[in-house]
Amino acid sequence: MDITKDKTDWSDAELAAAVGAYLKMLAWEKSGQPFNKALENRLLREGPVAGRAKGSIEFRMQNISTVLVRMGWDRIEGYKPAKNVGTGVEQRIRQALAAQGVFESEDAAQTADEQTLIRRASKLQQQPFTQLPDGIAQPQKVSTVSATFVRDPKVRAWVLKEANGICEGCGANAPFEVDGLPFLEVHHVKHLAQKGSDRITNAVALCPNCHQRCHRSSDREAFTEGLYAKVGRLARE
Ligand SMILES: [Zn+2]
Ligand SMILES: [Zn+2]
Repeated sequence: MDITKDKTDWSDAELAAAVGAYLKMLAWEKSGQPFNKALENRLLREGPVAGRAKGSIEFRMQNISTVLVRMGWDRIEGYKPAKNVGTGVEQRIRQALAAQGVFESEDAAQTADEQTLIRRASKLQQQPFTQLPDGIAQPQKVSTVSATFVRDPKVRAWVLKEANGICEGCGANAPFEVDGLPFLEVHHVKHLAQKGSDRITNAVALCPNCHQRCHRSSDREAFTEGLYAKVGRLARE
C-alpha cells in the first residue's frame, strides 16, 4: 500500500473509475446476478486506482452510495452510505455520475422545498419500495427566501370569534384548545399568494383537515365553492 498516495485527493479519473465499478455492481445487484465486491475492489487497485488502499476504495463506494441516495436512486445494499461526504467530493461524484448517464431523479431526489417533497412522495407512494429508505440522520439546514404577507390581527380575531370554535368548512368542533381558545386556522379563500385580500369577506376559520383540503385535496375547487355557498359574508374576488 502506498500510504502517500492515500493522503492525496482522488483525481477525476479515479473517481470516474470508482463510479463505473459501482454502477456495474449496482446493475448486477438489481438484476439478481451474484458479484464479488472484493474482486472489484482489487481490479480497481490493479488498474485505474493503483496505489490506493482497499479501505480507501470501500470508503469511496460508501460516498457514492450517499450521493446516489441524495439524488433519489437505489444504492448497493452492501455499501452503507457514508455519514460525511465533503461538498467538493459530492460535486465531483455527481459529475462522474452525470458523465455516466446518471442524473438527479425528478421523482425521488431529496429536497428542501415542501411542495416538491409532497409531490415526489405522492408519486413514490404509488410504486413498490425495493429497499427501506435510508433517510437522513442529520438533515441539513438550508435558508430559503420566502415571501410573507402583512396581515391584520383584527381580521383574524373577528373571523375566529365569529366561528366560535366551529369549523366553517365541516361544522365540526375545533379539535383541541390552545391557551383556552379553540384551535382553528384562518384560511384566505382566494389565497394571499393569488392576490386575495386579508378581509373578513375573504377569510374563514377552518379545522386543520378542512384547511389542508382547501390547499391540497383533489376536490379543493369544489370544496372552496362550498365555502362560498355556506359562509354568507364571503365575497368573490
Ligand atoms: Zn373542518
Ligand atoms: Zn389556507
